[in-house]
Amino acid sequence: MTASTYDIDKAAGLLRAGRLVALPTETVYGLGANAEDAAAVTRVFQAKGRPPSHPLIVHIGGAELLGEWVEEVPATARLLAEHFWPGPLTLVLRRAPRVPLEATGGLETVAVRVPGHPVALALLAAFGGGVVAPSANRFGSVSPTTAEHVRAELGDVVDFVLDGGPCDVGVESTIVDVTGDTPSVLRPGGVTREDLEAVLGRPVAVPSTSHVRVPGQHPSHYAPEARVVLVEPEKVVVEAELAQEQGHKVGVLLPPSSGDGPAAVHAVVPVPGSMADYARSLYGFLREFDQRGCDLVVASLPPEEGLGLAIANRLRRAAGPRDSG
Ligand code: AMP
Ligand code: MG
Repeated sequence: MTASTYDIDKAAGLLRAGRLVALPTETVYGLGANAEDAAAVTRVFQAKGRPPSHPLIVHIGGAELLGEWVEEVPATARLLAEHFWPGPLTLVLRRAPRVPLEATGGLETVAVRVPGHPVALALLAAFGGGVVAPSANRFGSVSPTTAEHVRAELGDVVDFVLDGGPCDVGVESTIVDVTGDTPSVLRPGGVTREDLEAVLGRPVAVPSTSHVRVPGQHPSHYAPEARVVLVEPEKVVVEAELAQEQGHKVGVLLPPSSGDGPAAVHAVVPVPGSMADYARSLYGFLREFDQRGCDLVVASLPPEEGLGLAIANRLRRAAGPRDSG
């Protein structure tokens, strides 16, 4: 099942030829293209239906290569790279000229990371360059955490899918802007705020995350077909039963310690007690609700510490306002 050396060489050749290759990372599966090939990068946006102003992450093969992709490497960036790479941390820095503006959405900064997955690292070594790799799904929908998810969603537009088994982390990387004096978290992810603060020796700012019922100003992202509704943990069961009575096909992400759970709803998925297990399974759960025909998912936010911060961020975005239609 896992990609062979032959597969990796084939994928590297396709990248050199400007084609699109889906690759496993420890976070989610990426839709990869040669970061220095503007036409290939443009095809990534087209394949995903992603607006060209949304910058991509450039994946590189080792922390020692960072200086080749950015204008300069400040001490804080060096410290974080050495500590967390390979791993689910993305650093935003001023771009080097080799990074095309197509990859950065026109910005003078670039997001870079070294993925912590042996197949991704083998591909980067065989290819020798940088690979842009946004999640291998259509823009706004649930990220893929298995090769099968990729084939089901983008099988028609991707030239080759490297299989590396299910993703270990399951949510996207933590993005930290290190262009200024104070590092700031642009997106919570697989490296926790607590880990960052321990290494930096100071508090880091994260995007505001208050109010369960207010999904936030961001339009929906990471979203299944089913509408996602967030309620307080103790109201999940009653809200789910009510919605089912009103005629919805309800899926429930049942928080730990919710007793027996709701009666007669369409699909119930118990949330794992460990946040690492929850993060690993979250997108698979959301896909499962769609597969089972749910039109409404009732969920609550986990405590926003450790990986819970990234999980809560994704659930809030999944529950965000949808475009009409
Ligand atoms: P993904 O959609 O998982 O590929 O992640 C890309 C994320 O990185 C998006 O949320 C972008 O907004 C963010 N990003 C990429 N490049 C930059 C940049 N130069 N400055 C700020 N955010 C960036
Ligand atoms: Mg994505």
